[in-house]
Amino acid sequence: MRDHFEIRDGDLAGRIGRLEVPRAGVTVETPALLPVVNPNIDTIPPAKLESEFGAEILITNSYIIKKNDHLREEALDVGLHEMLDFHGAIMTDSGSFQLAEYGEIDTTTEEILQFQHDIGTDIATPVDIPTPPDVDREQAEEELEVTKQAIADAEAAETGDMLLNAPVQGSTYPDLREEAGRHAAASDLDVFPVGAVVPMMNAYRYADMVDAVAAAKRGLTVDAPVHLFGAGHPMMLALAVALGCDLFDSAAYALYARDGRYLTVRGTEHLEDLEYFPCTCPICTEYSPDDLRAKGSKRQEKLLAEHNLHVTFAELRRIKQAIRDGDLMELVEERARSHPAMLDGYRALLDHVDQLEREDPASKGAFFYASNESAHRPEVVRHHDRLDRLTAEGDVLLTEGGTPSNDEYDSVWRVVPPFGPFPRALSETYPLTAEVPERLDRDAYEQAARGVARLADENPDASLTLAHDDWPASALELVPGSVTTESLAAVTERLAKEAMADGSAADTDE
Ligand SMILES: [Zn+2]
Repeated sequence: MRDHFEIRDGDLAGRIGRLEVPRAGVTVETPALLPVVNPNIDTIPPAKLESEFGAEILITNSYIIKKNDHLREEALDVGLHEMLDFHGAIMTDSGSFQLAEYGEIDTTTEEILQFQHDIGTDIATPVDIPTPPDVDREQAEEELEVTKQAIADAEAAETGDMLLNAPVQGSTYPDLREEAGRHAAASDLDVFPVGAVVPMMNAYRYADMVDAVAAAKRGLTVDAPVHLFGAGHPMMLALAVALGCDLFDSAAYALYARDGRYLTVRGTEHLEDLEYFPCTCPICTEYSPDDLRAKGSKRQEKLLAEHNLHVTFAELRRIKQAIRDGDLMELVEERARSHPAMLDGYRALLDHVDQLEREDPASKGAFFYASNESAHRPEVVRHHDRLDRLTAEGDVLLTEGGTPSNDEYDSVWRVVPPFGPFPRALSETYPLTAEVPERLDRDAYEQAARGVARLADENPDASLTLAHDDWPASALELVPGSVTTESLAAVTERLAKEAMADGSAADTDE
């Protein structure tokens, strides 16, 4: 186990954890947001991030500090915590971003780690190469080798109790991301940033982001704290947490504010287009959009940045409560409706349902069926897997209705879309207690039919009859020929008649 990271609670692959940062003498609760502090631009002072927003950790850039004579001297002289006036944990980046942006930087992993150590960084970063999406494979492989070397250099460096980032790169090649994750996890470094996803997020390529993170997570161990580097838009946080990301950094709150953009959990708005603020943060309570537009640009930027940060921290709290309540998937589904690209991200998440299923708790509070995608949730997959272990013998009625009063069948199982069949004794267990709408979609019936097929496969000697309540043809086609299918109405009528006939026969006997 990585002894500075402890997982306290989980839902899907998301978790609430505690990251111990020994050099700062603090423990950060995750998922955590690290506001990005540009040492040259004082949008919201770090002391205010701490006192008013509850920030336990922030991130700034050691390379920018090193390149600026004044900042460098001050940081070396008094240390980062005093310079920034911040008591929480401080992570620093190494200049990798500048390397990606400008093609070169004049420092090495060894040098910049030493500098980060000297200025009092709590979590430091080596010089990796953030390989952008869609480069050719050769470039992705070559750059990954450089990143691996940076991790090795970091392992060899004398860094005391400063924690170290082991970046996971690999561009848009899932196998490289997975390999990078495995390599990073095998090092004795501490925190695992999944890098170079910003270009994907900026282009609304959430499905690609999900695939990259899912691949990195396959390589990393479950106990590795994962940082989704450069991700701080509140709209996508639930999705990223569900994938198993623990740390996020937001430059968005300040960058977006600079050009008049207002963050919400449903996307980005432009201040110039807003007549109302859909938010109850202190800024949105005190000011109207008109009030904000009437401010000077500096003041407006600061106030917008504060709102942007409030809405982001609020979303993280909502996500943590969802993990506690076991309804993170419901929140992800809700957020997926904010933009078609987010829906793609959510559907991509469901492509990795087997991977999620391994970490998802077996029992939670409630399962709300909220869209046809709900039919593909990990709980449904898990139920189908469970059918392999259940035995059906003799004549078995699988019914959406009640238990018939006669004994024509050896046993009567319930069938509930989207799960499929199960013995009645399991009716009160999660997720079979799901709240399902009366007007179901095709996916729910088709998944239930797949469950029936699975049961039939595993129990070839049983004689199964499915009493279904008007299932669509696309679902009935998935039920194997060995299963007798009858409509629920027909079965109910037949059983009632038989019961009556039995009853009169019994009367005659007397
Ligand atoms: Zn607000």
